[in-house]
Order: sequence, then C-alpha cells, then structure tokens
Amino acid sequence: MSTHASLCGLAARAPALAAWLDAHAETLDTDATLSGDVVPQLASAGLLRIGVPAELGGAGGTIGDAIDSVADVAGHSFAAAFVLWGQRTFIEYLLQSPNRGLRERLLPALLSGELAGATGLSNAMKYLCAIEPLQIRATQTTGSNSAPAWRVNGGLPWITNLRKQGFVAAAAVDHEAGGAPSIFAIAHHAPGVARSDDLDLIGLRGTNTAALQMTDTPLTEDDRIAENAPAWLTRVRPAFLGLQCGMSLGLARRSLTGTHDGGPGARAAVADDVAALTEQLDTLTARLKTGVAQGEFVDTPASLFKLRIALAELVHDAATLEVQTGGGRGYLRGVSGVARRQREAAFVPIVTPSLVQLKNQLAAQRAQQPKTGTVS
Ligand SMILES: Cc1cc2nc3c(=O)[nH]c(=O)nc-3n(C[C@H](O)[C@H](O)[C@H](O)COP(=O)(O)OP(=O)(O)OC[C@H]3O[C@@H](n4cnc5c(N)ncnc54)[C@H](O)[C@@H]3O)c2cc1C
Repeated sequence: MSTHASLCGLAARAPALAAWLDAHAETLDTDATLSGDVVPQLASAGLLRIGVPAELGGAGGTIGDAIDSVADVAGHSFAAAFVLWGQRTFIEYLLQSPNRGLRERLLPALLSGELAGATGLSNAMKYLCAIEPLQIRATQTTGSNSAPAWRVNGGLPWITNLRKQGFVAAAAVDHEAGGAPSIFAIAHHAPGVARSDDLDLIGLRGTNTAALQMTDTPLTEDDRIAENAPAWLTRVRPAFLGLQCGMSLGLARRSLTGTHDGGPGARAAVADDVAALTEQLDTLTARLKTGVAQGEFVDTPASLFKLRIALAELVHDAATLEVQTGGGRGYLRGVSGVARRQREAAFVPIVTPSLVQLKNQLAAQRAQQPKTGTVS
C-alpha cells in the first residue's frame, strides 16, 4: 500500500472523523479538553465495529481491517489511535472470551461508544516475562447460590481510555487461593473502584490515561473474561499486538508522507531513504496482517516480537527524516505536526511489550534454542 493511498483512506471513508482529527490532533495530544469526545467520534465513524462479526453487532471484516483502521487514525492523531487501540482491544477480549454472558452484556455499549473499554494488561504481560508480580489480588468469598465470588485489592498505575463518563477495564488478578491468575472486567461503578486524576503526561493527554485502584471490589464469575490468564493471553496476544502495531504503521506512514512537504532539495536528499523505508513498511504491513489473520503468531510469538521491534525502529527513522526535511518550520508551534509526531514516536518503544522487554525475551529464547531446538 502506498503511503499516500492510506492517508486518503480515512478521509475518503470517514471524512467527518478525518476532519475532526486533523482539526484537533494538537489538542488531543496537549490537553484533556476533548478526551470525552474521542470514543463517540470513533464510534460514529463506525470504526469500533470493524472486524467484529455481523451477528454480534459488528460490521464484519477481519482483524486485519481493524489493524488498518488503527493505522488510518494514527496518521491523523496518535492519541485517538491509542484510544481506538484500547477500545478495540477490549472488544477483542470479549470476542475471544468463553464468557458469553459478559460479551452479551457489554458488547452493545462498547460498539456504540457509550461505554469505554480499557486494557490494563501491561502488568500481566510483564508478569509473564517475570519482570514484575501481579498487582491485584483476589480473595475468594461465596456468592449467591454458593457460586464462586471474589474481593479484589490492588491497582494499576497506567491505563488509557478510563473515560470519565463510564468505562470497563480488563485486569489480571492473582488468586490468593493459588492456581492460575484470571482476567476480569472491572466496571467503573463497581464498589471500591477509584480512578485517579489524569496522569500529568508530556503528550497523549486527551487519552483518559490514569491509575486505577480497587479496594475490596466484589467480582463474580459474570465478570471473568478468562479463567487461565497465561493460556488465554497467548491466544489473544497476536490481536493485542497486531492492533498496537497498527499505531506504528500509521505513524510511520504519516511521517514518510510528511517528507514530501519539504522543498525539492530536501526531498531529493532523502528520496532513497524514503523509498527504502516505504518498501520496508509495505513488507512489514503485509507480514503483520497475514501472520495475525492466519494465527501464525500464536505458536511463534518471536516473529511478532521481531515485527514490533522493526516497526518501532521504522517509526523512529521515518520521524527523523520528517524532521530533517521540515527544517525550521517543524520547530515552530502550530505550523506543522512534525514536533507532535516526534512526541508520538517517543511513546512507541515504551508501550508494553516494550522494546527492551522484547529484546531480552528474544535473547533468552536464543539462549535456550540449542536445548529445545525451537524458537516460538
Ligand atoms: C501514556 C501511557 C499510556 C499507557 N497506557 C497503558 C494502558 O492502557 N494499559 C496498560 O496496561 N499500560 C499502559 N501504559 C504502561 C506502558 O504500557 C508500560 O507498561 C509502562 O510505560 C512501562 O512500565 P514502567 O515505566 O513502570 O517500566 P519499568 O518497570 O520501570 O521498566 C522500565 C522499562 O524496562 C523494561 N524492563 C523492566 N524490567 C525488565 C527486565 N527484567 N527485562 C526486560 N525489560 C525490563 C520495561 O518493560 C520498561 O520498558 C501506559 C504508559 C504510558 C506512558
């Protein structure tokens, strides 16, 4: 796909949303005044239903289409794309959850944008790599009709899309009684749930990013997304990461397109680099979408990790080229999106799974390779 074709994509398919994002991209990055509007804007353009089966209220299509939609939005506003990632990933959790009752209860409001979906699974992903312990603990109690029930305590320091008007957040919970940790959906109005003020971020400030604390919050089987978090996360990870990589695809594409705004001399100087990065981007996009669609990355996550690393490096290189061709114009406030895209690009390596985390994981797998003979 050419860089230009995709940028035209959202403007052609959802012109009102594209115009809104272009008009407010700077605000969405620098303050929270429009943070309540992002999910409804994405919903009214139909983006939350992409890749969701029609029989469940979606628009049909594939997870690859959903990745494209995240990329398209990221080309206009990375903050909005991050919100879309959170919302669409939560929807994916429900699609891949065995808990049909929970799906039927939450999906309609999530698809219409009335309810925000937040994914607080960084802690779980870091836990799976032995980087940190789970930060929420569940004590078993007895619910009605002797059904299992729990009280949970703990917190998550970072979650995006905790929309003040109403949200549900996915979190991994360690069971005091032992056994595999579970993933629960925690509603904003559940007893003992407290959202902090928005975190004081250097960018992405319109994303409703805050901390979440649970104190004796009661949960039941009705709230459980997955009983065995490690097994379920292995299956969901390709969609989670694929949608997240969509943000990198869109940002890199936008920066490469931005290099065309430079003067003829500047364009000529970087033409070979831009052509090489564009070709690499097209190859990585195709590999990502094919791998996620074919379920290839469930058994071979290392290939997905390598794609995530390659895309993050590409985002960095593309953003740097855009700075070079933009000259002093890029350093002036309110004249171009060059400076904003520098801040946006700075986020790509740190969102979980972070680049350093993945590099360590790949190194650990390589060290094991002679013993097991496999790289997964
Ligand atoms: C704006 C913003 C929004 C966010 N939104 C969400 C969200 O919606 N949901 C969510 O769950 N999280 C979210 N996060 C958290 C994010 O995904 C990262 O988990 C977080 O920034 C990294 O955690 P930390 O800074 O506490 O890392 P630290 O634990 O301080 O570690 C620093 C870095 O080193 C890496 N690291 C630490 N120990 C090791 C090790 N042993 N081996 C390899 N690497 C290691 C970490 O991965 C990290 O990259 C958000 C963060 C930001 C900044």
